[in-house]
Amino acid sequence: MQDAVKLVCAQCGQTNRVPSARLSAGPKCGVCGAPLAGAKVMELDARAHDKATRGDELPLIVDYWAPWCGPCRMMAPEFAKAAQAVGPGVRFAKINTEDFPAVSQGLAIRGIPLLILWHRGREVARLSGARPASDIAAFVRQNVPQLAG
Ligand code: ZN
Repeated sequence: MQDAVKLVCAQCGQTNRVPSARLSAGPKCGVCGAPLAGAKVMELDARAHDKATRGDELPLIVDYWAPWCGPCRMMAPEFAKAAQAVGPGVRFAKINTEDFPAVSQGLAIRGIPLLILWHRGREVARLSGARPASDIAAFVRQNVPQLAG
């Protein structure tokens, strides 16, 4: 693993360099103090989404959802559980596609809920439909080699 990784703050959009050894110690943004990694799902706006999906050096899984989507709301607690299960090596985030429709247009998203796993500016894989926490965690582990085994 690298000595430090670049992570975009979901709250203010600042890029932080976090020592890899500190990832599990609840690192916080140097500008606004928001948590940068950990087992909690971060809420992204369009700007933070674009910066994080392009620049993050840790795998990032984003839940594309909307308040009108029943299956999305059902999946939210499962996604949060998966974040706990996977741990700080992967960041979990969500974005409200009703508030930021340009994001789903840009990614050609036709149906939600949809999960996209990102790493170093690249889309790694997609998982569509409402899924239980165990499926989400398995999807992440399958697609992030350093978590395998
Ligand atoms: Zn911040």
